[in-house]
Order: sequence, then structure tokens, then C-alpha cells
Amino acid sequence: MNKLDAELSLGLLQEEGYKIVDKVDEADVILFYTCSVRQHAEDKVYSHLGALKTLKKRRPEVIVGVLGCMAQKDGETIFKRMPHVDLVCGTRMFSRLPEMLLKIRNHGSRVLAIDEDQIVNVKRAVTYRLNFYQAFVTVMRGCDNYCSYCIVPYVRGREISRTIADVKEEVQSLVSNGCREVTLLGQNINSYGKGLRGNVTLGDLLTELNEIDGLDRIRFVTSHPADMSRGLIRTISRLEKVCEYLHMPAQSGSDEVLKRMRRGYPAGYYRDLISYARELIPHLTVASDFIVGFPGETEEDFQETVRLMEDIRFQNCFIFKYSPRTGTKAAELKDDVPDETKRARNLKLLELQKKISLEENTKMIGKKVDVLVEGASKSNPNRLSGRTRQNHIVVFNGSQDLVGKLAGVVIHEVTDLTLFGLLIGCG
Ligand code: SAH
Ligand code: SF4
Repeated sequence: MNKLDAELSLGLLQEEGYKIVDKVDEADVILFYTCSVRQHAEDKVYSHLGALKTLKKRRPEVIVGVLGCMAQKDGETIFKRMPHVDLVCGTRMFSRLPEMLLKIRNHGSRVLAIDEDQIVNVKRAVTYRLNFYQAFVTVMRGCDNYCSYCIVPYVRGREISRTIADVKEEVQSLVSNGCREVTLLGQNINSYGKGLRGNVTLGDLLTELNEIDGLDRIRFVTSHPADMSRGLIRTISRLEKVCEYLHMPAQSGSDEVLKRMRRGYPAGYYRDLISYARELIPHLTVASDFIVGFPGETEEDFQETVRLMEDIRFQNCFIFKYSPRTGTKAAELKDDVPDETKRARNLKLLELQKKISLEENTKMIGKKVDVLVEGASKSNPNRLSGRTRQNHIVVFNGSQDLVGKLAGVVIHEVTDLTLFGLLIGCG
């Protein structure tokens, strides 16, 4: 979401004549897109901001801006802690970035913009893209779920969906500029359409996008188990462009913890949903997020999470230590799991997931997969890297002119994170 918001605002700025430079020292404007989901993310931003103090002393004309969730949440406090910051722009104001920068430049005044404009559509400059073959597309903003630990609804506001027509127009324009894969974004994407005229659902949106010629793959994140309907699973199973990959965070395997997290489902419900999806969608891979050390999480609760992980066999998991966020319901509970225990549980889940990923990837050896080629591999620039429909990363031999194309690759070696293969054809 932050990457996309950055891309959209860089597009807006580029239309005003701004250019992107490679080095911080060459920049006249330095912008941070921030996250406030955990304390660690905020600490990192403050440390980066602190490091800019000397640069700002040397070149006071440089504009330093903080955008996104942390800007929305901390507002004025950022100026107090970091007096060399010129701009604090919240989650719903970044489409006005060009005029804000102009104001700072012309009047030398600071700008604080944390009002709550209901932005739904942001003009997209197809000229500025992080990657021409893949694109993120926001289909809704905000979240109405209020999971007890989560700051998102407070900093991103209430759910608001874009219309199918708006999304379709954007995707069509991306495709006519070479895009082959879109990832639809929403904090709680299964409730897409709520509030729009005519009982529109995510299934309707996917069905419409599936019709677009030239588009090969559609992904969507993030799914919430309580809002993921069986009807949607049936729709996905019918649509050939929708990839066989679900990012649907379970957060915990313990019913007691899930209740305190206000997730709205017990672990059994999650298990049944995955079984149903796997029955209908062959080769489906599932990814999840987990929080360890939530208030009151006992060893037995944690073991339930371990069991869930072992049983579902996720393709990939993001595991976080619980971090209390002021203003949320969970912040009223005692953060009583010692940090040492949080760390040990985090490590245990990471190791378990690593083992599962390696075992699952090993099953891919000898199989042919279709890869959308993204570019040179980061670890070896002489090889190419891309993804399968199931979101495996594949590294293989091939020339740069395959970038943006679909390649057939046979897998011969794997690690827990990557499949390695040989090119057998492209289309
Ligand atoms: N909207 C998405 C993700 C939101 S934040 C969803 O509902 O799935 C991304 C992840 O951060 C969450 O899935 C959760 O695992 C983690 N997270 C959110 N708040 C947290 C907190 N206070 N402490 C630790 N992890 C947190
Ligand atoms: Fe946060 Fe829950 Fe909304 Fe996800 S669904 S953004 S975890 S409140």
C-alpha cells in the first residue's frame, strides 16, 4: 500500500517536472512513506529522520516530508521531535502533494495536512511506474474491522470502495501500457463494495477484470477470514485469470486469543475455509500473518498456533511480535508476555515455516511452472527472476528480452524461499 501511494505521488510530482535521483545528497525533496502498525516501523522512521539533521543544516532549502500512517497518527508531534521536518502529510491528503511542496518552497512555511478527505481515486500517471508489467491497484481504502490490536482503522479511516468502472478503467489503461498482472489492494478486501450502489462484491469486480484482454493475472490482498465468503471462493475457482494464491492472515491458532483479538472467527472456521478453498481451487497456496505474544497468550495458546501452522502448511508467513498501539482496545490489556518469550515464539514459528516451505518447494522439483518474468535476479544479475501464479519466486537462465513475458520453466533445485529452474519456452 505504501509502495503504491509512493508511486502515485511520484507520478503526480513527475507531472510537475520533478525528477527522481539516486542519492539522498542530490535530492531537493526527501519524502518518507511511513507505517505505524508496529512500534519498530515508527522507530525506524524517526531514526532515518534524525540522520537527516546534518544534511538539513548544510542545505536548509531541502524539503523533508513524512507521509502516511505515522504522519496521520503523530501529526504535530513530528515537528516537535524533529524540528527540521517541513511536511507532515497524513493518509488521505497526498494527492495534494504538489501544492503543499510549492507552499513550503515559496513561503518557507511548514505544512501539516492530516485532514480526513475521503480520497477514493488518485490520478495515476502511467509514465511513472515501479514496474511496467505488474501493478498494484487500490480498490478500497480504510478498514471497518477494528481488530483489537490494530491501528489501521484509526489512521486510514473508514472503508470506502472505488466503483467497478473506476477500477476497470485504471486497469485497462495499465494493460494498454504493457501491464500483465495486477494486484488489487484493500486492508479488508473481501468487504469490497460495501456502501456502493447495487450490492457490488469483490466477486463482481474480479469477474469484470477477468474480461480484460491482454491482462494475464489478477491477485488481491488482504483477505479476512470472517469476510471471505464461500461464494467468493467459488467465483475465484471459475475465473482463469485470478491466481491460485490467497493471503489470508489467521493471526493465531487459539480461539481464546482470536476472541481477544476480535477477529470474529475461531480457528476451526479458518481450517474449514481453507479446506473448502483447496477442494475447489487445485494447487492453491495460502499465506498468513501471525502475531505472537498477544496479551494473555499462554504456552498452550501458542501451541495451538504451531498446530495450525503444521496442519495448513502455508506457503509463506509473516510473523510479528505483538506491539501495543496506543488508542486500540488491546492497549488497555496488560502486555504481559515477556519480550524474551515473544522472541522465542517468533523464532519457533519462523523455523517451522522455513521447514514447511522447504518441504513444499521440494515437491516442485521436476515440475513445469509458468513464470511472469520480472527482471534480473537480485542475487545473480546473469539470471532472471519472476513469479508463478502461486507466488513462488523462480530464478532461471534466460536473456533480458524475456522480461515482461510468460516463461515456461522446469524446476530442478529449491531452497525454502526460491525455486531454481531451466527455461523451456516462452509465450
Ligand atoms: N489488513 C491486513 C493487514 C494489516 S497490518 C489484515 O487484516 O490482514 C499487517 C499485519 O500486521 C497484520 O496482519 C498483523 O499480523 C500485524 N499487526 C497489526 N497490528 C499489530 C500489532 N499491534 N502488533 C504486532 N503485529 C501487528
Ligand atoms: Fe487491522 Fe483487522 Fe483491519 Fe486488518 S482487518 S487492517 S488487522 S483492523
